[in-house]
This record gives sequence, structure tokens and C-alpha cells, in this order.
Amino acid sequence: MIEIMWPFSRNAPPQQDPGPEPARASPEAATVADVIHALPDPAFVVDAQGRVAHANALAREVLETDPQGLHLSASLRNPAVLEAVMAASAGEEAVSVDYELRVPMPRSFRAHVSPLGPGHGALVVLRDLTREQQIERMRADFVANASHELRTPLTALTGFLETILGAARNDEKAQAKFLGLMRSQAERMRRLIDDLLSLSRIEMNEHVRPQGEVDLAQVAGHVRDVLSGTAEEFGCELTLSSDGPLLVTGSRDELVQVVQNLVENALKYGSTGKLVEIVLRHDGGWAEVMVRDHGPGIAAEHIPRLTERFYRVNVQESRSRGGTGLGLAIVKHIVSRHRGRLSIASELGKGSEFSVRIPLKFP
Ligand code: ADP
Repeated sequence: MIEIMWPFSRNAPPQQDPGPEPARASPEAATVADVIHALPDPAFVVDAQGRVAHANALAREVLETDPQGLHLSASLRNPAVLEAVMAASAGEEAVSVDYELRVPMPRSFRAHVSPLGPGHGALVVLRDLTREQQIERMRADFVANASHELRTPLTALTGFLETILGAARNDEKAQAKFLGLMRSQAERMRRLIDDLLSLSRIEMNEHVRPQGEVDLAQVAGHVRDVLSGTAEEFGCELTLSSDGPLLVTGSRDELVQVVQNLVENALKYGSTGKLVEIVLRHDGGWAEVMVRDHGPGIAAEHIPRLTERFYRVNVQESRSRGGTGLGLAIVKHIVSRHRGRLSIASELGKGSEFSVRIPLKFP
């Protein structure tokens, strides 16, 4: 059984340690050291001989050593940065050089190298570009994925339209069939656009905690009623058990969407198990909603990626069941907005358990 929980526990961010008070050889040196230590970015001063005269705690962290007193090349081996430092020390203009570190993990930096005046060396300020580049890559991937997902039904629609106008021009029966297919493609596009808009709305408000009072037991009851017909179509029993009201602070519509997405998935992918259970309970200071199916389960390697947008274990299967690949991404964002936790446990051949915990209003 593998279980993954969101949000992943994160290590506390490194604190900006001002480091030991540097030796004050002269008032001028003390001023430079103070300024370097006060900077919010990794920064160091290299003297005219290429030795590091002062480095703040953040620079020591990035360079993974205390470079003070050593030649810069001992701690930063990038030739372009070293060249820029030597050029700035020789009086050339300030430049920015981008470089990458591969170990211990890939990171990208921009080194801004400025001359400090004749014979005084250079100031190097580093900016960590890793996160920015990651976000930019994710944005570009998202646009590419969303366009691809929209283009697929559009291509199908155009194809059917051409058939109706061409080969099936005089065939009423064929026309009716193609119109039906066109309707399902148009519905797919509508679902995709609805999900994209939901996601963007939730993301925009993610940092604002919703204010209403919501009973999760009532939410789950509502979802059970709405989806009981669908469960029947899947030949599946849908049960609900709870130990009384579970009051949380939140948005009712969003919490309905969470439970609905989880139950719909359990029915779509796990109906071979013939039973989908919604179980509600108090768990310490949390209200927990668990949606359990007894279907084929999910292989361990997929579980950490299920909440990524457009990630699907089997794209064809998801599409054939009306999936957009956005349902669990929406769930994750709503849960995070409610300061909650999502965890997924699954075992191949046995089924899956999706559990959402939201802090109780009155713990
Ligand atoms: P989709 O619109 O494809 O259902 P989701 O984000 O809701 O998108 O789910 C992502 C993928 O996770 C699905 O395509 C499916 O492969 C897998 N999945 C979700 N729930 C279950 C489940 N209960 N059992 C098996 N696989 C599931």
C-alpha cells in the first residue's frame, strides 16, 4: 500500500544567518562587511587579486563553503563568472552572467558583477533563478497542454462537419449519428473550459481562506444524492456513513466539488469493485471525508503525480469517461485553500482511498 499526502512536508527555508561578526581591520573594511551581510541576496566582494574578501551567509550557503580569504576559483568554478569578475576588477563595466549548478541539485543563478573602483576588486551579487524558471516552464507546459486538449475535440468536430457536408450530405441517418458525436465533442470542450476556469478562479483565491460555515456530512449527503443515478448506471452501490455533523470553515460549493470529483472518479475508474463508500469521521482536530473504491487501484509510481494538471494514468480511458485530467488538480487547490490535507492510498487489485481532511471549526 502506498500513501502520499499533500502538501508535501517541506523543510523550513534556510534562515538568513548573519554569521560571525567579521574582524574589523579598518572602518572602511567594517562598512563593506556590514553592507554585504545586510544584503538580502547571496553576495561577496572579490579583491583585485581574485580572493574573496567578504561573503555573506547566503553566499556561503550557495557556494557550500566559506570562501573568505580563498581565491574565488576555489569555490565558484564557472569560467564565465570568473572572467567577468577579473574584467570588473580591471575596471570594466558591470555585467550579468547566468550560470547553472548541477550538484547537489540543479539550480540556476544570475551573477551580477560590478566593479568597485580602481584596485578595489568587484562586488558579486547572486540571484537564484531556479524557482522563476520552474514557474515559467510550468506556465509554458500548461498553455501547451491546454491547447492540445482543446484542439483534439475541435479537430474531431471539424472532421464530422466535413463528413456531414461531404460524404453524408444526403444521408439523414449518418447525419444524425455524426451530429450526436459532434455534441459529445462539444460537451467535452465545455467541460474542459469549465474545469480550466474553476482552476484559475480557485488558484487566484488560494491565499484567501474561505469564511462560511459548512457541514461536511451535509455536503457528502448532497453529493451522494446527486450521483446516486450515475452510480446505478455504473452498476455500483454508493454508500455514505458518518458519525454526525462535521462543521468546518469553508466554501460549500468548493467542498461539494471536492467530494463530487472524488466520488465521480471512484465511479469512473473503480466501478468494477461494485461498491464506492463515502466515510466521514472526526480525526483529532480534523474532519475527514474518505472516498473508497474497490476497483483496480493505481500503481505506486503514478500516485505522486495524480494531482498534476492533465496527468492521467491512461489518457484514453480518462477521455472515454469524460475526464479532463483536471479533477484532482482542482481538489488539491481547494483543499489547500481550506488549509486541509489530501492523501491518496492505493493498492493494485484492491482499490483506492482518497482522503480529505479539513480543520474542524470547533476542534
Ligand atoms: P480525470 O478527468 O482524468 O478523471 P483527475 O485529475 O480527476 O482527471 O484524475 C487523474 C487520473 O487519476 C485519472 O485519469 C485516473 O487515471 C486516476 N484516478 C483518479 N481517481 C482514480 C480512482 N479512484 N481509481 C483509479 N484511478 C484513478
